[in-house]
Amino acid sequence: MQRPLTHSPSPRHCVTLLAEASVCCFVLFLHAVALAQDPKVPGANKQPSAIPSWATPDAPQQSEAARLMREIAEHSQAFQNLEEMCEDIGPRLTGSDKLRQAQAWAMSKLKGYGAANVHEEPYEFGKAWTRGIAWARILGANGQELHVAQEAWSPATDGMIKGEVALLEAKSFDELKSALPTLQGRIVLLNDLPKPSEEEEKDKSAFYEAVREALRRAQFQALLEESGKPNDLMTMDGSPVTKWKTTDVPRAFIADEHAHLLKRLIARHGKVEIGLSLGGTFSKDPVKAYNVVAEIQGSEKPQEVVIVGGHQDSWDLGTGATDNGTGTVVAMEVLRAMKALGLKPKRTLRVVLFSGEEQGLLGSEAYVKAHDRELGDIQAVLIDDLGSGRITGWPDMGEESVRPLLAAAMAPANSEGLKTIGPFTMPAWTDHWPFHRKGVPSFGALQESLDYFQTTHHSQVDTLDHVVKEDLVQSAQAMAVTAWGLLNGEPLPHHVPLLEK
Ligand SMILES: [Zn+2]
Repeated sequence: MQRPLTHSPSPRHCVTLLAEASVCCFVLFLHAVALAQDPKVPGANKQPSAIPSWATPDAPQQSEAARLMREIAEHSQAFQNLEEMCEDIGPRLTGSDKLRQAQAWAMSKLKGYGAANVHEEPYEFGKAWTRGIAWARILGANGQELHVAQEAWSPATDGMIKGEVALLEAKSFDELKSALPTLQGRIVLLNDLPKPSEEEEKDKSAFYEAVREALRRAQFQALLEESGKPNDLMTMDGSPVTKWKTTDVPRAFIADEHAHLLKRLIARHGKVEIGLSLGGTFSKDPVKAYNVVAEIQGSEKPQEVVIVGGHQDSWDLGTGATDNGTGTVVAMEVLRAMKALGLKPKRTLRVVLFSGEEQGLLGSEAYVKAHDRELGDIQAVLIDDLGSGRITGWPDMGEESVRPLLAAAMAPANSEGLKTIGPFTMPAWTDHWPFHRKGVPSFGALQESLDYFQTTHHSQVDTLDHVVKEDLVQSAQAMAVTAWGLLNGEPLPHHVPLLEK
């Protein structure tokens, strides 16, 4: 079986979606409701359920969970940590010195909280990429400066390049094939990419791979893609891993309003010329990237592990506060609160701060590969990566059998809004996925979306301004309570691994 969930692309995100499963992807999220209704999806057509009455946990567990909630309410360091990491250190692109600084900072904090076994685990990442100049201006006409952001891991232009903007418009694969030769050597603005016909729908992955391959061979001079967001907001994407690349030409996102301006000028005057300069640079050699790990050893079954995590890497237009600074500091707060109370879970709590998530779940993939033999001992993986909104529950990932145990774990935080078990499989949006694929019970938190998808996600305004302090407290409480239940309760059943592609 292939990845169980596929999606239809939105034209505005075609290049992103050609990367197949761009992580924490806005478009994918918009399909969440549809997924829950999709009869092909295990557990579909069920409504999200509230916690059933039989899910009352035993008294000692409840009291420890209540103590955790109080400790976090009264002494949370999550927001302060977020401010230190995002504003003192800054954006944390995988492969950058800034991420290395943030990882050293996190390890120091976790050691200070009394964590055991604090260390980093390396993996081969590929070449690092550093953002440089990104400048564009209309030449002649109204002379307006255009807002662009170079797509990460795309090559620089050869100084400032000048040329007429050519629109790439193709409604079918045949139209694409005939359009591409005419666009060779041009500055191309992506306007419309083909959607699969009824016949091509039968094997959508093959269709999108064919489109991607055609684009790779097209030899544009540069490629511009609308950001897909209003109000001059940018987005970001890119990866050193070839399978995620769309082309090897300089690529940039352009503000929607400025793309529309170019298209209107072309429509009225037949052409428009721009100057474009993109200066991103690659490291000379491939680099390693790292995941940060810290633990509280289990008192009865230390070999059995519950992982609580998020990704510490971020895109670099903003400071990565909501994607995924919040998930990072929530995971750290869970460990802090348990240590502060001197709680001793039966199983081992393992905090993992992944990296390379934005480049294709590279850190969690590497982690799963390195720990392949221990996956049977990983009881659960809990990830917070849908922005800074309150955690409302967890998806059941298509496994009915996990519902009562999840419900029991969540029960002590029902009063704080942790009530929903979503009857669907959250796809490869974040770091739960490589574990899920291997049969480990793995869950990405369901969260109130606030302005995450419309505004902060991958944009230049992913900053502390958009984080609600009280919601961060609730998220840490929800994560801590769920983790505590799973650390001490009945083990969640593993499921049959999905077949690799
Ligand atoms: Zn994320």
